[in-house]
Amino acid sequence: MKITAAVATAPETDLDIRELELDEPRPDEVTVRLVASGVCHTDAIVRDQWYPTPLPAVLGHEGSGIVEAVGSAVTDLKVGDKVVLGPASCGVCEQCITGHPQYCVDFYAYNFGGTRPDGSVAFTQDGEAVSSNFFGQSSFASYTNVRARNAVKVADDAPLELLGPLGCGIMTGSGAVLNVLKPGPGESIAIFGTGAVGLAGMLAAIAAGATTIIMVDIVPSRLEFAKELGATHVVNSREDDAVERIREITGGRGVSYALDTTGVPPVFSQMTKSLALRGHGALVGAAKLGTEAPFDIGTLLVSGITVSMVVEGDAVPREFIPKLISLYERGLFPFDKLVKTYGFSDINTAFADSESGETIKPVLLY
Ligand code: NAD
Ligand code: ZN
Repeated sequence: MKITAAVATAPETDLDIRELELDEPRPDEVTVRLVASGVCHTDAIVRDQWYPTPLPAVLGHEGSGIVEAVGSAVTDLKVGDKVVLGPASCGVCEQCITGHPQYCVDFYAYNFGGTRPDGSVAFTQDGEAVSSNFFGQSSFASYTNVRARNAVKVADDAPLELLGPLGCGIMTGSGAVLNVLKPGPGESIAIFGTGAVGLAGMLAAIAAGATTIIMVDIVPSRLEFAKELGATHVVNSREDDAVERIREITGGRGVSYALDTTGVPPVFSQMTKSLALRGHGALVGAAKLGTEAPFDIGTLLVSGITVSMVVEGDAVPREFIPKLISLYERGLFPFDKLVKTYGFSDINTAFADSESGETIKPVLLY
């Protein structure tokens, strides 16, 4: 069928809205009519080829929509179901079967390879392949084919225009906190970076009952917003030494938990140094392949800290996304405050506003 999609053609170049051909869904796939899609920093870094997904490509990986057709082997979704799309995973490797599909042995191939695992592409233009299956979905398209496995059914009255980011940016920050760090009531956490991922982590920490929540960034307006949303302390690390400030705020002991959403090497070092004895820090910010960060193994050995590398909040989307929706509905996870909507044709403005920091989480409406 003919569909409309935003195509990434070259690094640091605007996406081009084109008419493409979408193939038929495979037996294990559904065709989804996209209602909305979030824009995530990872779309921009793949457009810019930090990860070598072949261009031209349809990116987009925070889609939400309505099932339009189902493949012959799909038993758990039907036409008309509302779905939020998550990252893809094989479902049969050791990580998938033990509940950690974000570490699927074939994660790269399923999410960044630009094709289905069998090498076929869902999109073509005049017979030429256009990379598809980005994060198993390529949601910057009016319609797309995804494996039923990575579509999460939501309630018929769910606000689809809002829910796409639960499939990546919001799940990443909140999952790193709720599934990996697990701060408890009355505990402390420092979060570096107050973008969508960092603020989602902050909202999750508040929901979990943490009472010392220190947000670190270099943009004053973002820190101000973090405070409005519930940060107990904010630190501008361009003006102040973040490690010293965190130690001061915590009476010298450091924070029990920390999250680096920047992927900037010196920030990763700050995170490790701001942890309390036996504290737990996690990195979710993406850096170019080959990036190294200084880590003082001499001093930190005796600290007993743990550092985790976390993909997509280590979440099982079909379990975790409904939990986030329940928290949101009860007013305990107001992630809608991070969202600003754009028309699909304004996708390049949405990218620019995300880049400049003007918008925390852009969502495109189709
Ligand atoms: P964002 O750009 O909105 O937020 C990043 C924030 O970090 C900004 O507010 C920026 O001002 C701040 N920052 C930059 N340099 C800093 C520094 N030196 N010190 C302090 N703060 C600094 O991005 P986002 O959407 O929140 O995404 C954050 C990161 O997470 C990106 O790298 C993205 O690619 C990555 N990501 C990873 C996963 C995963 O599975 N691990 C999933 C989604 C996104
Ligand atoms: Zn993402």
